Amino acid sequence: MEWRSFDLFAPTPDHAHLAETLREFVTREVEPQAAWHDREERFNHALFRRAGELGLLGVTIGEDYGGAGLDATAAVQVFDALAGADPGFTLAVLAHAVLFAQNVNVNGDELLRKHVLPRAVSGQWIGGLCMTEPEVGTDVLAMRTKARRDGDHYVLDGCKTFITNGGIDENTLGDAFVVYAATGERSLTAFLVEKGMPGFALGQKWCDKLGVRASFTAELVFDGVRVPVGNRMGEEGEGTRAMMRNLEIERLGLAAMSVGIARRSVRTMIDYANERRSFGVPLREHGQIQRYIAENFAEYRAAATFTYDVARRFDPATAGQRVDCDAAKLFAAQVGKRAADAAIQVLGGAGYMGEAVVERLWRDAKLLEIGGGTLEAHHRNLTKDLCRDPAQVP
Ligand SMILES: Cc1cc2nc3c(=O)[nH]c(=O)nc-3n(C[C@H](O)[C@H](O)[C@H](O)COP(=O)(O)OP(=O)(O)OC[C@H]3O[C@@H](n4cnc5c(N)ncnc54)[C@H](O)[C@@H]3O)c2cc1C
Repeated sequence: MEWRSFDLFAPTPDHAHLAETLREFVTREVEPQAAWHDREERFNHALFRRAGELGLLGVTIGEDYGGAGLDATAAVQVFDALAGADPGFTLAVLAHAVLFAQNVNVNGDELLRKHVLPRAVSGQWIGGLCMTEPEVGTDVLAMRTKARRDGDHYVLDGCKTFITNGGIDENTLGDAFVVYAATGERSLTAFLVEKGMPGFALGQKWCDKLGVRASFTAELVFDGVRVPVGNRMGEEGEGTRAMMRNLEIERLGLAAMSVGIARRSVRTMIDYANERRSFGVPLREHGQIQRYIAENFAEYRAAATFTYDVARRFDPATAGQRVDCDAAKLFAAQVGKRAADAAIQVLGGAGYMGEAVVERLWRDAKLLEIGGGTLEAHHRNLTKDLCRDPAQVP
């Protein structure tokens, strides 16, 4: 391929095909349902299964397990495209496909992969990840959920909160979860915990969320849950490593969601500036409006290019790009929120109303400065990593 024609956003025919599938799915099926599910604070389970039918829940999972066997660029394409229409639904897909399925794919053994992945990729199961607890978020090694070995089982006790896909609705627990629990002093182990294990229950649903309202966020309770040793992911004490590895692709996916939000916001302000007139001219003629459009377009392009460039070099099987994944999310999250904010401003009163979509994107964008690591956590991690190895900046 002539190097100037290389397309960072869809580099191969497989990626171009995926982009086309996503365009159709988003236009025909995701966009029309987004406002209602946001307003009603409901997860669209039927749409989630449809995403499974289209192969969008397992783009990074191997073909042996029903996935597409593609790479991190494909994952970024999915989250970018879906988030341009419905970041709430996208978060549910990301929690399932990356935090759960991809986590099992990389950190589980062959038996667990065979058990979990075909069900996850098809959408038969919905899964999530349990890290955060009522009293412990950023300081994750201080978690209080404990796993105690008892013969050929572990016994899990504790509570997790803010868990995306914790339920499908108020009465229905999600199907399976990767759960991190302490097995020693600041030593974590990852387990696969399934619906139906006695003592595992859906706690309260978090209602009245600011944004990502189309995803279901809940508390999950573990009361003496007996988990077979075979459901342990990796060796005892290897949970922190598994978590750090999975957080990289999670952060890349969240960066992609912010790119999608920025893209939609910039496009919305351009269209409006072309149509709307004030003082006898289109809005695009006003210097202050030009500044919103130009600055946000430049930031959107920078965030997209950065995110897709990290994805191009990222191997989901091995990870190892902590600094770039942290930095892409740190940057893109703020770009997405600024772009949605600017879009509301450019649209004036119309931007404040639900019909224009950007108020929803603005509410959803805020989550990306908190979930998967707060801005402050990224500042801390990046500075620690860069100061330890300054040669990362040539
Ligand atoms: C909608 C939603 C969905 C989520 N989904 C999931 C999920 O599926 N699974 C899951 O496990 N979790 C999930 N989370 C939880 C999310 O990852 C946490 O909220 C996040 O990691 C922050 O933890 P915390 O809320 O406990 O905040 P805290 O850790 O209590 O932090 C509070 C504030 O203090 C700051 N802070 C903390 N420590 C430091 C420090 N050392 N230096 C400077 N500032 C600091 C933080 O940046 C933040 O501003 C979700 C959250 C939301 C809102």
